[in-house]
Amino acid sequence: MKVGFIGLGHMGAPMSSNVLAAGHDLVVHDVRPDAAAGLLAAGASWAGSPREAGADRDVVITMLPGPSQVEEVLLGPGGLLAGLPAGATWVDMSTSVPAVADKVRALAGSGGVAVLDAPVAGGITGARDGTLQIFVGGAAEDCQRMRPLLEAMGDTGRILHVGPHGAGYTVKLMLNLLWFASVTLTAEALTIGVRAGVDVATLRRSLLASAAASHFLEHDVLSVLERGDFDDSFALALACKDLGLAVDLARQTGVPAEMSAMVEQIYRRARAQYGDEGGQMLPIKLLEDLTSTQLRLSSPQE
Ligand code: NAD
Repeated sequence: MKVGFIGLGHMGAPMSSNVLAAGHDLVVHDVRPDAAAGLLAAGASWAGSPREAGADRDVVITMLPGPSQVEEVLLGPGGLLAGLPAGATWVDMSTSVPAVADKVRALAGSGGVAVLDAPVAGGITGARDGTLQIFVGGAAEDCQRMRPLLEAMGDTGRILHVGPHGAGYTVKLMLNLLWFASVTLTAEALTIGVRAGVDVATLRRSLLASAAASHFLEHDVLSVLERGDFDDSFALALACKDLGLAVDLARQTGVPAEMSAMVEQIYRRARAQYGDEGGQMLPIKLLEDLTSTQLRLSSPQE
């Protein structure tokens, strides 16, 4: 396929590299031209604007920070929509909301440009290894048509068509909401337990053997407990964007979401304290700093 890829950051660079490696003809664009150096050396071509990245493409993928950048890239000056030929498909893999895609579909009209939302989970490891989980919203036949391309980036068994336009964004936002809630609540439980005198390794092992076990406690928290690594491959600015969008969705759907709002506030506090580029698990450090309690294991766990 003739593919365009816009947004070559932590996720977009390795994802587009897998698209190229799968044999597709690839054109790339980013506001930071140096982000494309490795891809150009590997055989991709450069487009000077989103509009150019769409010219003559079968499909263009966007992997941008959030709704405002997606809107700028699609509908701003030199925007992608103006460059896409009739019959092309736009696949937005950013964690975003349906508003921009709704506008694009309205402007493109019927029979113009097909649109899918296809946000991902799995982080930069999944992006590098081509094992991302992908949640696709839109027409089932468009999802089926795009499957070979999505399989270049994702785990075949975990590329899920989750519903109509917007459903992919929603599933992804709820996934992140629950994960960020796990970060904040696990930090509290471990800190309270340790300050009450239980060894952190014993506490974690006991919780894992109980009904309170979680994927986060078993796997993800280990980077903090073993290495003091708060994972800056996913920035606090993006985490706050996702939590803001999740709380907006709660408001729009009339769902009281006290816990979600509190998790958002804790993340905003961590961002104010440690900066936009800080890692997504820094709310744990926030509590460590406040209570002068470091959560570290003395030896690596299996
Ligand atoms: P990033 O900030 O590393 O990359 C975003 C890229 O978009 C950058 O290269 C930036 O220069 C480019 N960009 C921004 N505005 C642009 C514009 N107007 N025109 C062209 N390029 C523009 O972000 P990321 O970590 O790669 O995340 C991308 C998306 O994927 C986000 O929506 C994020 O929430 C989501 N996501 C990230 C992860 C992760 O682990 N990092 C995991 C799953 C989903």
